[in-house]
Amino acid sequence: MEELEWVIPFVPAEDVFLLGIVPGIEWVIAAAVIVYAAHSLYGGLVPQSQVFGPIFRGRSGAGRVVALTFDDGPHPTATRQIMDLLEARGARGTFFVIGRHAEACPDIVREIVRRGHEVGNHTQSHSWLMALALFRKTRDEIEICQETILKIAGHRPRFYRQPIGFKNPFLFRQLKRSGLVAIGWQARGFDSHASDSGPVARRVLRKVRPGGIIALHDGCDMEMDRDRTATIATLSTVLDRLEREGFRFTTVSRLLGESPYQSGTPDGAAQPHPGRRPFAVRPGPPDQPAA
Ligand SMILES: [Zn+2]
Repeated sequence: MEELEWVIPFVPAEDVFLLGIVPGIEWVIAAAVIVYAAHSLYGGLVPQSQVFGPIFRGRSGAGRVVALTFDDGPHPTATRQIMDLLEARGARGTFFVIGRHAEACPDIVREIVRRGHEVGNHTQSHSWLMALALFRKTRDEIEICQETILKIAGHRPRFYRQPIGFKNPFLFRQLKRSGLVAIGWQARGFDSHASDSGPVARRVLRKVRPGGIIALHDGCDMEMDRDRTATIATLSTVLDRLEREGFRFTTVSRLLGESPYQSGTPDGAAQPHPGRRPFAVRPGPPDQPAA
């Protein structure tokens, strides 16, 4: 009985119903606990897992198109450089901003929206402990960031990306309450702390598929003005290569077919982006700038 008493330390083994009646039941219970724990760890720590709820990672059958997303900004200089790079190709991106960075650089958040790019929620503080957070912490990280973006840009985002991809069992209940859709990725470069763009670009290009989402970092969660040279070089390489291969670049809202913002925002500007506009599935020129 030692194993069972270790698993359920406050319940005397002999008091558990069926123990002693069904031979080996303690092993069945122990196995169930281990499976449950492994299942929860997988759901919480593996970014692409959908154990706790749905995550949009791309649209198969969308043709040669990819959505470009950027996390952890806004960055005092890099966010604008990235927008310039995208716009030179007629493309737009989706920027998942950290609330406290948005508060430090509100003009850049407004500029993202004004230039036709999209702003999403990446939590207020980008805590690495979100996988272990209880409901209250989860709610606050999400809702305070929503309010921060609303106050700065006049829109409540529709899209949410979890820091580092970690999730917890409370996350999806709060996302539903906040009217948010969880957005994942199909290809990421691990560029957050990278100094060499070569491996980052190769990782992205190896994983990217038509209809997928690429995740890069215009900012850094730990240091707001960290050098982003590697990410910008990576983006140039990726854009050049994918363009040569006939890909078009789009935003999460176009790929998903939903507006990037929730209606009912105070300024009454309901939907600044042609959210449900379908995109062509055949190779063609890059998307035109958003309205
Ligand atoms: Zn992040």
